[in-house]
Amino acid sequence: MGTRKRILILGGGFSGVYTARNLERLLRPDEATISLINQENYWVYQPLLPEVISGLVGLTDVVCPIRQLCRRTGLVMREIQKIDLANKVVTVSPGFRPRLLDLSFDYLVIALGSISNFWGTPGGVEHLKPFRTLADALSLRNHLIQTLEEAEIETDAGLRRKLLTFVVAGGGFSGVEVVAELRDFVDNMRRHFPRLRSEWARCVLVHAGDRILPEMSESLALFAHKLLAKRGIEIRLNERLVGATSEKALLGSGLEIPAKTIVSSVPSSNPRVLQDLECEKEGWRLKVNGNLELVGHEGCVWALGDCASIKTVSGNRTPPTAQHATREAKTVAMNIVAAIRGGPTCRFAFEGLGKLGSLGEYSAVAEVLGVRISGFPAWLLWRAVYLAKLPSLRQKVRIALSWFFVLLFPPDFVQMRLTRQPAIARQHFETGEVVFRQGDLGDNVYLIQSGECDVFRETNGRQSPVATLGPGDCFGEMALLNDVTRNATVRVRTSMDVLLLSKDDFDALKTSIPVFGDVFRRLATHRSTGNLEPPSKGFSEE
Ligand SMILES: Cc1cc2nc3c(=O)[nH]c(=O)nc-3n(C[C@H](O)[C@H](O)[C@H](O)COP(=O)(O)OP(=O)(O)OC[C@H]3O[C@@H](n4cnc5c(N)ncnc54)[C@H](O)[C@@H]3O)c2cc1C
Repeated sequence: MGTRKRILILGGGFSGVYTARNLERLLRPDEATISLINQENYWVYQPLLPEVISGLVGLTDVVCPIRQLCRRTGLVMREIQKIDLANKVVTVSPGFRPRLLDLSFDYLVIALGSISNFWGTPGGVEHLKPFRTLADALSLRNHLIQTLEEAEIETDAGLRRKLLTFVVAGGGFSGVEVVAELRDFVDNMRRHFPRLRSEWARCVLVHAGDRILPEMSESLALFAHKLLAKRGIEIRLNERLVGATSEKALLGSGLEIPAKTIVSSVPSSNPRVLQDLECEKEGWRLKVNGNLELVGHEGCVWALGDCASIKTVSGNRTPPTAQHATREAKTVAMNIVAAIRGGPTCRFAFEGLGKLGSLGEYSAVAEVLGVRISGFPAWLLWRAVYLAKLPSLRQKVRIALSWFFVLLFPPDFVQMRLTRQPAIARQHFETGEVVFRQGDLGDNVYLIQSGECDVFRETNGRQSPVATLGPGDCFGEMALLNDVTRNATVRVRTSMDVLLLSKDDFDALKTSIPVFGDVFRRLATHRSTGNLEPPSKGFSEE
């Protein structure tokens, strides 16, 4: 048992999950432990995500619990905060208890995918809708239903036009699939809205290149272009989305499109934890060698999938697709086995079998083993291939049934409204409960509304009382201001109600409103000198 190697996989997407599945197949349990860290407990079949918009498949049809897919792998459902390659430790976010968790490894697999990055686009973070995750798909579907419901009752013609205009930026596979599904959904749903039946919804696809689907051959891209245009989708080539507001999309040519829905499938970057990782990169992607080992960390760290810059044996750069991620996972697993048992390693040599793209309404384009197909036959092939590629029988049956079901009964338009999380939360504590402990991570600032609490400091196992706080006092800001752990414990004296400001909201407020940060900084300075009373009655844990 003591000699078992610890394999840690970061990311539960195509590359992470398939690496784990391959390792489970190749390694005996006494050879290694396999752990996988992912921020969700499910794996997403992204190629079918656009169909969630139109309701052709249900939300839970495109996901599968990671524990079911990788039965011998230990799942840690947390966010990865730091990767320390020198000390072979990965730090993950706190869970219910505000403590970071450190996980050590002998072999590390980095498979964290990519994220939508709108920081370079003015108004992007605030007004562009990404389309990458399950949450993005749900949020977009809910938003579309909201725009239809609003347009139905809106009397202002200008606003109604904006509500019925949908802009999608990026004419690659995902952008084209999203605009096609979005148009189908809006078009099919209008019959449920008496006032909208006669109104025309405007769908615009904005693409920076001179043809959509640059991944495909020109003839298929042209087929797709003509088909989408025939269905009323306005395609703007050689145009770039350069900004967005809550009212309009701003294009590079100066054109403005009044719209309440702007979706963007570009640009991408690596997740924040990889942005901070010090290692060789090509652009934003991690640089790996032909064996998919992270350059500078050969024999110990591998990177694959969308977050890695990978070249095949023939020197071609691999595109960020699921098809490649699953093959890369096989190479990585075989090379980890070689590292554990000794023996030859293998190089990544997969060049791709073909490309498939759905255009909605029983049409698709496909290029498989050099053969080009379009229209209905391509759509049938698309469905057959994607169904076959699903990893579990349960999911295959569910998706097949969903597809069959919508042939009989059209998709619904139920908005799955989630409760809105207020920026300032409330919490209630009973007498004797601990709000936080010395050594915990600083995650919130607390403002007492009613009740009292005691503050203790622990030294060499002995607790010494520091202060008692009551209504109007605040505490917890010091750890957030200085990015350190709590150095006091707070226990409730009489049942207490507090307002809670999270670290992210606190940071955003102190950065954008300097006077807000100044108040807390002055308070912290005052307290650090041992003054526990005014300027505010409050107390921090420091
Ligand atoms: C809409 C859409 C349609 C697509 N269609 C196709 C298609 O038809 N065919 C095809 O071949 N490819 C398609 N792709 C591309 C394909 O899905 C990706 O190439 C593939 O998912 C990459 O796998 P990955 O494991 O590298 O990344 P991902 O699948 O994105 O997985 C990364 C995982 O890491 C997790 N993660 C990230 N950061 C952290 C963190 N800090 N802490 C914890 N967990 C973290 C994420 O939650 C995620 O689970 C599509 C992609 C999209 C978005």
